[in-house]
Amino acid sequence: MRNIVVLPGDGIGPEIVAEASRVLAYVNDRYALELTMAEHAFGGAAWEAQGDPLPASTLAACREADAILLGAIGGPRFDEAPREKRPERGLLRLRAELGLFANLRPALLYPALADASSLKAERVEGLDIMILRELTGGLYFGQPRGIEIRNGERVGFNTMVYGESEIRRIAVRAFEIARQRSSDARAARLCSVDKHNVLEVSELWREVVIEVSRDYPEVELTHMYVDNAAMQLVQTPKQFDVIVTGNIFGDILSDAAAALTGSIGMLPSASLDADGRGMYEPIHGSAPDIAGQGIANPLATILSVAMMLRYTLDEAAAADAIENAVGATIADGVRCRDIGGGVDSVSTRGMGDAVMSSLQGAAR
Ligand code: NAD
Repeated sequence: MRNIVVLPGDGIGPEIVAEASRVLAYVNDRYALELTMAEHAFGGAAWEAQGDPLPASTLAACREADAILLGAIGGPRFDEAPREKRPERGLLRLRAELGLFANLRPALLYPALADASSLKAERVEGLDIMILRELTGGLYFGQPRGIEIRNGERVGFNTMVYGESEIRRIAVRAFEIARQRSSDARAARLCSVDKHNVLEVSELWREVVIEVSRDYPEVELTHMYVDNAAMQLVQTPKQFDVIVTGNIFGDILSDAAAALTGSIGMLPSASLDADGRGMYEPIHGSAPDIAGQGIANPLATILSVAMMLRYTLDEAAAADAIENAVGATIADGVRCRDIGGGVDSVSTRGMGDAVMSSLQGAAR
């Protein structure tokens, strides 16, 4: 038995997780995966009900889980919460508590959605990038941090810090993924993004990545400054295969890559610990502007289930089946509003139904 914790969260979270849970339940049966699933309170909903966005019982369940499926958290309703009780703090705490240091964000363009990209179709056709972002260190966690009075004025400060063990483990994961993604048709390539010309922390980053590369001679390693990488990503994105970078650079670059694929509602993500256990979630937030309307696109969450099957549960056949079903659904012209559905848009449930029937059809 493997144990999956489901955290629906806030806003559209419960709506999209309901569809992803149906898909997970289906492949669980179909492929005899022996998964158990249990929902727990998390985010603003948990703060309102229990006074804490990450209740002790939820954290305990997550520690025991093989994998976690998260919808999204946050929303304007929770802005009045004390800073430590905000949903986003709960999420940062959960990632840190579970040691989820490796954030995988694929940017994959479905051929039928090439027109939704921010770039001309020929620049993005066939786009398939994996961005690996370090998630528990760097500028977002470094100490000291704060706002204080110095020389009679307020000063805000943060610290960008990486230990070599933190760099090594994300680099190893990146080389492994580059190797895993390669095939006869595709060479294994990894681009490490830093700011080596200005930051000492990047000097160490590059040194350690080069050290790790000696164990992966079959992976071609390149380095790029983050400012250049941002430009290259929006000009000639297909030059990249796997990108590895630190926390803040990865945060920004992966959002830019998301824009290339047309919709935020299509992109899944994974955050893995040292043993490969992980939390899986769409890259988008809780979309309070459309919450409760039944129109959110559930595909990013459904594709997060596929990533869970591939990267934590080692069930590639079930992962392939889900990804193929999503591809077929898109190719059939089924669209939510955010991916150009217009007047013929399907609802969240309608998109879930379409993926389910494609899965069931493929299984017949
Ligand atoms: P957002 O991603 O929630 O929404 C941005 C825009 O994209 C909105 O117009 C929204 O309607 C649309 N959108 C997002 N997901 C969609 C989907 N599945 N289908 C259709 N349209 C979709 O970002 P935001 O508005 O900046 O943030 C809203 C809240 O979400 C904030 O409280 C923020 O802190 C939180 N947030 C949470 C996470 C997370 O849970 N990991 C991530 C980002 C933001």
